[in-house]
Amino acid sequence: MDGHSWTLLGILNQTSSFFGRKQLENPRLQAELLLAGVLQLRRVDLYLQFDRLLTSGEVDAYREAIRQRLQRRPVQYITGQAGFRELELDVAEGVLIPRPETEIVVDAVLELLGHQPDRCVLDLGCGSGAIAIAIASERPGIRVVAVDLADTAVRCTRRNAEAAGVAAQVQVVQGDLFAPFYQADTGLFDIIVSNPPYIPSKDIGTLEPEVRDYEPHLALDGGRDGLALYRRIIAQAGVYLTPPGHLVLELGDGMSDAVRDLIEARDGFEVSRVMPDLRRVPRVLVASQRTAGDA
Ligand code: GLN
Repeated sequence: MDGHSWTLLGILNQTSSFFGRKQLENPRLQAELLLAGVLQLRRVDLYLQFDRLLTSGEVDAYREAIRQRLQRRPVQYITGQAGFRELELDVAEGVLIPRPETEIVVDAVLELLGHQPDRCVLDLGCGSGAIAIAIASERPGIRVVAVDLADTAVRCTRRNAEAAGVAAQVQVVQGDLFAPFYQADTGLFDIIVSNPPYIPSKDIGTLEPEVRDYEPHLALDGGRDGLALYRRIIAQAGVYLTPPGHLVLELGDGMSDAVRDLIEARDGFEVSRVMPDLRRVPRVLVASQRTAGDA
């Protein structure tokens, strides 16, 4: 790319065919996202500036981003940004990159909330804050408490809540699942939501390099069978819910029956819904507290 002046379109074409030859998925999209990140533009705005000539500083910065991508660093960590529903979130290395299927978790929570104000939602393992902040910004009357064990996640969620203008609705607390609350604090929440780590420990090594080498294992590793965090959440959720409260859980691939069994083994809860993702994989499970009249 030296000694050559590049138009935005020219460098995009070149980079996307380069990424294609390197077998990266969605090469054009990746080339665009990286260039938008370097130029601090929205991706759609690239299309309005195809003839723009890049400065040599911009070309150098883009080339550095390309180099990192070839080392399989995820685009979102290179640009520091990830889209989630209507939000543009900061993602620091050390928080999981929000996935499109996690948007369905938010749908499930919003449907349960309806338009009743004054409800309180607990998000366990908030990471970047994607779930908590999307709920708060799409339902202005709702309060969300977001908990994460990792310092980076707590800081990232606070920053993202501030940027999205929902800091007053989202309280961020550091701790291990329910540890920040006292057992005496019964009935604090109407809904508990979580996208817990659910990859079985032995499978972590088989994940794509983008995930395995760059994303936080704390947010991925669900223990020997991948279910360790579900067990802990399901065991304690009843204490902190106001009946008839709900538990909304993202599911790992093929885990729907196992998580259903964990729920059904506990008195007081029943599975009310399982929602598929776009690949038709059961992805979100909703469990609801039985009310006194239920069989
Ligand atoms: N969905 C993530 C992945 O497939 C895993 C996130 C999680 O464990 N909750 O990489």
